[in-house]
Amino acid sequence: MQDRALRVLMVGGDQQSYDLVSNRLDSLHSPLSRILWCNDHQQALGLIDISAYDVVLVDGQQQFDGACQWVEDARSVGYQSPLIILTLDHNSVLGQRALEAGANDFIATRDLQSYMWVRSIHYVIDRYEAEQKLIQLNYFDSLTGIPNRQQFLENLERAVARAEEKQSSLALLVINLDGFKQFNENYGLAVGDELVTTMAERLNQCLRKSDSIARIGGDEFTLILDDSNSAADVELVSTKVAEVLSKPIILDGYPKTISCSIGVAIYPDDGDTLDGLIKSANVALLKAKATAGSQVVFYGEEVDQPGVSDSQYEAEMRRALRDGEFELHYQPRVSLVTGKTVGMESLIRWRHPERGLVMPEQFIGLAEKTGLIIPMGYWIIEQACSDLKGFDAKGCDPFHISVNLSFEQMQDPLFVVTATQLIQQSGIDPTRLEFELTETAVIADFEQTVESMKTLGELGVSFSLDDFGTGFSSFSHIQQLPISALKVDRSFINSVTRGEEDAIIVKSMIDLAHSLQLQIIAEGVETVDQAHFLWQNDCDQVQGYFFSPALTAKDFSAMAREQMAVV
Ligand code: C2E
Ligand code: CA
Ligand code: CA
Repeated sequence: MQDRALRVLMVGGDQQSYDLVSNRLDSLHSPLSRILWCNDHQQALGLIDISAYDVVLVDGQQQFDGACQWVEDARSVGYQSPLIILTLDHNSVLGQRALEAGANDFIATRDLQSYMWVRSIHYVIDRYEAEQKLIQLNYFDSLTGIPNRQQFLENLERAVARAEEKQSSLALLVINLDGFKQFNENYGLAVGDELVTTMAERLNQCLRKSDSIARIGGDEFTLILDDSNSAADVELVSTKVAEVLSKPIILDGYPKTISCSIGVAIYPDDGDTLDGLIKSANVALLKAKATAGSQVVFYGEEVDQPGVSDSQYEAEMRRALRDGEFELHYQPRVSLVTGKTVGMESLIRWRHPERGLVMPEQFIGLAEKTGLIIPMGYWIIEQACSDLKGFDAKGCDPFHISVNLSFEQMQDPLFVVTATQLIQQSGIDPTRLEFELTETAVIADFEQTVESMKTLGELGVSFSLDDFGTGFSSFSHIQQLPISALKVDRSFINSVTRGEEDAIIVKSMIDLAHSLQLQIIAEGVETVDQAHFLWQNDCDQVQGYFFSPALTAKDFSAMAREQMAVV
């Protein structure tokens, strides 16, 4: 506890017990304590409402029941700080009742003569402060100080229960910053953090008292609008949020603008369960993300078709696909047990004749939106299988290959059949192929996706959950998924050696994976400290610039053979 005057409120009792308590405190506590005595119970409830005390001592020597009642009343109006009941003597039955009423401890006045009771007060206060720290750690985001995913889930559960009881509705907004990955890459993580913090502050300012916000992922926020009875109201707030977040922001001395996408779902119309509501909001967010210029999308709303420039870009992509301008690069996955490359992730690039190497962030979104991702995705599977055979032919170890799948690819009714055909035609051993699916993609159409995964699984193909930690999958979702690995999103790895909270989260993700007999892979490992932390905490595999960026197929096989020669 901080070394400052202890603020004590004494409730009830008489002059004699007050004198005793204040004498003991004065003589034992340094610096001097400030003790306020109030023997009117009602008035004392008013006092705790307006001032902060380190501890409240409730005198129950003469009227034990009255003291317990006061503690119960204080707790029922939401008072959380330490409360101690003074009893006449050491009686464990009374002690038990004091604790049941909501007191943190009880002290017999007999002990007021000894040093023990001051220690007991300190113990109660210290324990309370430690609990508060833990709550802060478990329920608040360390970067922005606003509620985190855990608190969001609990808040939403309460809001849904309240709405159900009152037969009212509520709105859930899921807000995602556009192009945040690219922003981080362009300006660096520190500027990215500053951006997220500013966005959290701006969101806070849009709030009414009954609303609650949270940060549930790197660049993902939620807003629960309690008691929102009219759609027009929700639309007004959503548009305001989009407007406020899209205002220019001064970062690193320059004004920058980043837009956001918002998905909205209304309880009970768009989902009358917690999971159902979250899923709908997420589907709406996916639509908002996929449509240029549409910032707010309500669940079930039709979204306009892409504009002219999008369709030109799409035509250019179709041509590029035909002309063979796309290529796959490979980023090694390294085992932390052996230190060796055990597999690789294929990452698409567009080698544009004029613009040079174009990264997926600049075209995958549009390909997904226009459906071009479906043929492009088949090309990717074919190319990945053929490159794998190429690596084998060059004498590389029999690596595992992982291929990213978008939600839209799985929506193609012919996906399972076509993918099976492509894999079989290539002649590779299907057990060497893994598909990476994001949490968001899986949750958006859970039953259908699990069905397709199972069918492909029978062929020998495995699956991993990508960007783990940024979506909404609950423990029960993960348990039901036919996956063999979790890939921790790189936003968690970024700060694992900087923030206590992310370190705790990553450790618990590792434990979670292992308890489900899943492999755990950390992506975005950039420093030796991050790698060391992951190694120490039993993470199975790592991927990231610290080991290697994505390489062309040629460079990858050269690197792999070089590594074999060394070992
Ligand atoms: P992802 O699946 O999360 O891929 C990991 C991304 O992190 C890659 O970006 C990779 O280059 C980058 N990365 C790897 N190590 C580090 C690191 O240490 N630090 C940092 N800051 N970044 C690292 P890339 O290649 O730009 O891909 C971006 C996203 O595009 C992928 O995210 C994936 O969602 C999508 N994508 C890429 N290739 C494909 C594909 O073939 N099919 C589909 N459907 N999506 C793809
Ligand atoms: Ca991936
Ligand atoms: Ca990922």
